[in-house]
Amino acid sequence: MKLHTKIFIGMVVGIVAGLIVKTLGLPQETLQTIVKWVEPIGRIFMNLIFMMVIPLILSALILGIAEIGDVKKLGRMGIKLLVYTIVVSFIAVLIGVTMVNMFNPGRTISEDTREYLVSEFGAEAAKAKAQAQAIEADERTVGDILAQIIPRNPFDEMVNAFNSAHTGGGLLSVMFFALIFGVAMAAVGEEKTATLKKFLEGLYEVVIKVIGYAMALAPYGVAALLFNMVLNVGADFLLSLLWYVLIVLGALAIHQFVVYSIILKYFAKRNPIQFMKDMGEVTLTAFSTSSSNATLPTAIRVSIEKLKIPKPIAHFVLTIGSTGNQNGTALFEGITVLFLAQVFGVDLSLGSQITVVLLCILAGVGTAGVPGGSLPVIVTILVSIGVPGEAIALIYGVDRILDMSRTTLNVNGDITAAAYIQHVEEKQAAKEAAAR
Ligand code: ASP
Repeated sequence: MKLHTKIFIGMVVGIVAGLIVKTLGLPQETLQTIVKWVEPIGRIFMNLIFMMVIPLILSALILGIAEIGDVKKLGRMGIKLLVYTIVVSFIAVLIGVTMVNMFNPGRTISEDTREYLVSEFGAEAAKAKAQAQAIEADERTVGDILAQIIPRNPFDEMVNAFNSAHTGGGLLSVMFFALIFGVAMAAVGEEKTATLKKFLEGLYEVVIKVIGYAMALAPYGVAALLFNMVLNVGADFLLSLLWYVLIVLGALAIHQFVVYSIILKYFAKRNPIQFMKDMGEVTLTAFSTSSSNATLPTAIRVSIEKLKIPKPIAHFVLTIGSTGNQNGTALFEGITVLFLAQVFGVDLSLGSQITVVLLCILAGVGTAGVPGGSLPVIVTILVSIGVPGEAIALIYGVDRILDMSRTTLNVNGDITAAAYIQHVEEKQAAKEAAAR
């Protein structure tokens, strides 16, 4: 049986088992014991993959850049990816924000509920704090932000990459380190870096092998993750959030099927239906792991083998994209922030909505490609517009399904970006050849 079929079966088994246990009406203690036994299975699977993320970034990104070799071409591709990310994320956030404003999911709650939430979460204090922080944020310059991404100690960033209390640049800093390392390696040239390149190639192969071992566990890990999700989501809570969930899913679907199809057809000259079919394995992996970083090895393999994207482009775009190009996350963050603002009755003028849009585009670049990577980022945005950061707790219960879906969009978006860049690069190469 193919691995993704097994993963799919794992998903179904997890959900059905969760529903059965839930309807059995077991005592709370028994439920907790069950969760205690099942939960580590999911965690073991995730940890095995996470364990390889840093070595993967180091080997794949450095190699991806060094393999391109030509520093000028590298800069050109980097700039194209950056512009692409900003434009496509902008479209994504716009779809999200328009839908929230059309359907107003946060305004359907009663006044009583709103009053209760405002006092429970200290919303008044949050507004005051936001004003104070806005003044502080004003003083942060682009230089400060850049300085945070450029690591003083890259090992510190590697050690703390998944630590939510860490204030450094985290994975972005590790990527910056790899980026500059790769650029310098390309500049130094093949002759002097041959041994280093061999070492990194060896490291890369070993990392992919270990991830292969972890993936063998995926069907069980996925079953355990979904089982827990079903048990933890309360039925009435799910109902009140259903509207919000549907809006997020609808907006994600519009972006996936309309926006990506247009990009693939007109800007990458690919058949969107065939392309999406070929991405199937990646889609399933992203959906079940909720992590762009964990999906990276599958994304790279499928892009090279099935979608025939050249190796250097796949390595470069997908590695940077797994953290830097997150359209699904940007869209989700926009909807969530505005939804929670509606719930707390914080009126957002057009001006502050535009700020939210810009922050979400930036957040899409800065969010770690790990499950729930957006949540700490959303807290930061919420606080900046005067909604209590703790309000994020209101959506925790439903976040898993949204995380699965936005991660799918994130990863599919990276591959779409790679196909676009491949097309533009090929066109440019043909033009250069004709000029010669
Ligand atoms: N889980 C997402 C990803 O890995 C990040 C997020 O939480 O939005 O792409």
